[in-house]
Amino acid sequence: AIDVLQLHKYFGDNEVLQGIDFHVGNGQVVCVIGPSGSGKSTLLRCVNLLETPTSGKIFIEDTEITDPDVDVDAVRSRIGMVFQQFNLFPHMTVLKNLTVAQQKVKGRGKDEAVECARRNLAKVGLAEREDAYPAHLSGGQQQRIAIARALSMDPDMMLFDEPTSALDPELVGDVLGVMKDLASEGMTMMVVTHEMGFAREVGDKLVFMDGGVIVEEGDPVAVLGDPQHERTQSFLSKVL
Ligand code: ATP
Ligand code: MG
Repeated sequence: AIDVLQLHKYFGDNEVLQGIDFHVGNGQVVCVIGPSGSGKSTLLRCVNLLETPTSGKIFIEDTEITDPDVDVDAVRSRIGMVFQQFNLFPHMTVLKNLTVAQQKVKGRGKDEAVECARRNLAKVGLAEREDAYPAHLSGGQQQRIAIARALSMDPDMMLFDEPTSALDPELVGDVLGVMKDLASEGMTMMVVTHEMGFAREVGDKLVFMDGGVIVEEGDPVAVLGDPQHERTQSFLSKVL
């Protein structure tokens, strides 16, 4: 589970997160929507300690990861992150992309790393592409590889920051399909997305952020179908 308590984040004088509270239960999928600049990526990056919160607490299960003495690498190894830009290593094959961190960070031997990589490549439907270089794959395939790479670290939870926003429309469905499979296997997930169909179908909860606060949250069908707050209504009228 993820618990965020009164999270504030400043960049200089700019208070980008203005007191965020939320909970993601184990096995839950929480989708986060909101206008550009509302703080969605910053929130996700704080949960992964890619940004240091200015104040507030974040718990992953019983571990307070905002404790200054926390082992940051240990925290990060429990949390898989997938970005809009796939960030694969261009000079490495697919298989190498999936094994290098397992060996370096997890201390796995090569055989074990390869076996785990192949299992996850099969899961995202790309078992036959292990020798390819990223540049020879479509954007959708690269993103599925990025998901398989994150899964190869055996994370307890996965964070997705607009994973399909850089993709051609016809490639979006494959990536969402992989995410849906993950959700149905019980993976705990936070997903920043503009894909309202995914949020409605797969999400257990939908969070609408604006101006560094959570304006509204609840059952995705309810929030999308009958938004209570004027700012949510206005945002949804532009994107739906
Ligand atoms: P988008 O939908 O465009 O991705 P977002 O909701 O993810 O937007 P953030 O990227 O979290 O928004 O940015 C929130 C605010 O924080 C913006 O005003 C942005 O300019 C600012 N910001 C983000 N990262 C930094 C940084 N490293 N230094 C300074 N300001 C930053
Ligand atoms: Mg963002």
